[in-house]
Amino acid sequence: TGDLMKGKKGLILGVANSNSIAWGIAQQLAAQGAELAFTYLGEGLERRVRPLAESVGARLIVQADVTDDASMDAAFAELEKTFGTIDFVVHSVAFANKNELQGSFVDNTTRDSFLLAMNISVFSFVDVARRAAKLMPNGGAMITMTYLGAERAIPNYNTMGVAKAGLEAATRYIARDLGPKGIRVNAISAGAMRTLSLAGISGGRGMIAQGRAMSAMKEDTSMEGVAGCALWLCSDLGFSTTGEVVHVDAGFHMMGLGDAED
Ligand code: NAD
Repeated sequence: TGDLMKGKKGLILGVANSNSIAWGIAQQLAAQGAELAFTYLGEGLERRVRPLAESVGARLIVQADVTDDASMDAAFAELEKTFGTIDFVVHSVAFANKNELQGSFVDNTTRDSFLLAMNISVFSFVDVARRAAKLMPNGGAMITMTYLGAERAIPNYNTMGVAKAGLEAATRYIARDLGPKGIRVNAISAGAMRTLSLAGISGGRGMIAQGRAMSAMKEDTSMEGVAGCALWLCSDLGFSTTGEVVHVDAGFHMMGLGDAED
């Protein structure tokens, strides 16, 4: 614990359960003194999210579906009522239908599922950034979560890889627009971790095992490492870093070929 986030207030989108990356980040920010608001997707998830959020003294726990403008309007109105202004936002939201996360990208991708994935996983960050920036008169920080599938063709990741490429580009454009307002916008490219979202990807466990085997450190990506990066980017330690995609993946992204063979 410490006070790197003391006096800072922010919104966490994307906690579904205690394995969620958003929850790992929220705990780290709270331990450093941040005051937090949480959104959850639907009533089914409220009973999981509420006790977690309450355990870190959440000031607001509110339903929000990023595809539904009315629910986003309501959530941000509550946020403004509770906090007035905010200092940071953690966007940790993505979705694609199962048929988009298996087999042949070329053959399996449909228009409706493609657009749904882009809506929830890419447009939502643009929408959240626009709404959140209005509550950041003194500057602030925004982060989103991405994966190496944006940069390389990874088996089964398919439509989500295209979405993550869009998300990373959106991060740069949002950073450009909001930079003059003192708002920094960054993405964390995390290695594969065992969450609900990963379970939706065909061969998700293999993504973890292969990621570990191919990483420089021969380790799984740790939640502590991802949350530590989020803390850096959301706190004043992150001053001057914006529009960046930071890899936290035990050095998986930069390796070429496997171990040397004679
Ligand atoms: P998760 O399932 O715990 O989190 C995904 C969240 O998205 C859930 O809380 C879900 O409720 C929310 N969500 C989905 N549709 C929504 C909607 N319409 N409105 C509002 N919220 C909605 O899984 P996670 O792995 O923690 O995923 C968080 C982020 O991290 C995602 O962007 C994911 O792509 C990214 N990521 C995950 C990994 C991994 O290996 N798990 C690696 C890199 C990046």
